[in-house]
Amino acid sequence: MRHIAIIGSGPAGYYTAEAAQKKFGDDVRIDIIDRLPVPFGLIRFGVAPDHQSIKAVSDRYEKVALSENVRFVGNVTVGKDVRIDELQSLYDAVILATGAPNDRKLDIPGADLPGVLGSAAFVGWYNGHPDFADHEPPLGGKHVVVIGNGNVALDVARILSKTRAEFGGSDIVGHALEMLEHSRIEEITILGRRGPHQIAMTPKELGELANLERATPRVESDDLPDIREDALLEPGMRKSVTHLREFAAIPESFRADKQISINFDFFAGPIAIEGDGKVERVIVERTSLDDRLRSIGTGETYALDCSLVISCIGYQTPSIEGVPYEHGRGRFANVEGRILPGLYCVGWARRGPSGTIGTNRPDGYNIIDAVAEDMRGGEGKSGRPGLNALLEKRGVQVVTFSDWKKIEEAEIARAREGAPREKFVRIEDMIAAGG
Ligand code: NAP
Repeated sequence: MRHIAIIGSGPAGYYTAEAAQKKFGDDVRIDIIDRLPVPFGLIRFGVAPDHQSIKAVSDRYEKVALSENVRFVGNVTVGKDVRIDELQSLYDAVILATGAPNDRKLDIPGADLPGVLGSAAFVGWYNGHPDFADHEPPLGGKHVVVIGNGNVALDVARILSKTRAEFGGSDIVGHALEMLEHSRIEEITILGRRGPHQIAMTPKELGELANLERATPRVESDDLPDIREDALLEPGMRKSVTHLREFAAIPESFRADKQISINFDFFAGPIAIEGDGKVERVIVERTSLDDRLRSIGTGETYALDCSLVISCIGYQTPSIEGVPYEHGRGRFANVEGRILPGLYCVGWARRGPSGTIGTNRPDGYNIIDAVAEDMRGGEGKSGRPGLNALLEKRGVQVVTFSDWKKIEEAEIARAREGAPREKFVRIEDMIAAGG
């Protein structure tokens, strides 16, 4: 019998478990350990609440979770309840699928002023992550600045713009819905330090901005390159840029009825955030591109008055004591997923925060091929019974998958009309519902 521990129950974790089942059949026991009492990581806490069709992928993970040889071990923190070297002594393979839940640091003066949030905190707040549920983002001002030109910046701008009716059918948590409904936002500026041809936004997500009830996107035609240059882009990128061109062509008469303008400010690098005890303005430097398409400051600066700044500049994997880490790239130091003998990483913990949810599937299958290759001829270890004994001795209250199903049932029962669920946002409430 082989014993595999996977740390993290998001997409990378479940695809890896699926791959291990396929590879080893009945000859494997897989424990998926998560620090939270609820599974699915990014699907529950990262994917936007109004993107329910994307969240449906958790049905596939549930099939894996319900099979005999896979176990969910929730409410167990690696590094606190159990050390990584203890797991290594218990399991034939330990695979870190911890994702990248921490913000990449915005390294400019004033970035720690109240009113500056990273996307992990803001997204975690509207998605009911227990770490961020108590945040109260200052939504009383008229202008919000969003930093970054990726899909998370789009998620954030869209969520800030939607009306209560547009959240129908979503699982945005009640506390966020209330605050967003009473926000007084009139302008959202999305700062891109490079140009329209360098965005990391995908067409579907950009297209959604054109269909909002009370908001409309704005792009300055002067920022767009000559249209003939679009032919050089790969097809997805060309579609995205076509959306930007459509936004630039929206007539002023159409804007008059809209309360919120979502402004794309390209070639705009934030260099400082200022304010007296809280955010009052962002200082932006006009940029241009060098011959390697990197942004360089032109020396021309301007200020954007605002009361909330949300930095959406990418994520990093949290480090774990004793595990080699690559600081510059915010992920574990690894060679094709191998960190140390018997210790592996997969998904965003392996390659950094890029790609779609589906990218984690081949990642999971590849890492299990590596595990199988390394395991050849090795001795089996004690696995589950060993972990159970350790956690029991330490008084850790494990949440199982059947406990989670009870939590889920309770969340469905307390949903507001039309919503799929109302999430519990506190760990103690989750545990109580699962008990
Ligand atoms: P991302 O795609 O890496 O985009 C980060 C953005 O931040 C880039 O535009 C980058 O600009 C900018 N940036 C980085 N450092 C900066 C700085 N110091 N100052 C100003 N700008 C800076 O990251 P993300 O938006 O967090 O998305 C992470 C992953 O999740 C991506 O693969 C994304 O597609 C995926 N995602 C998908 C969806 C969806 O499919 N619906 C939704 C959300 C997220 P440069 O290019 O100049 O570095």
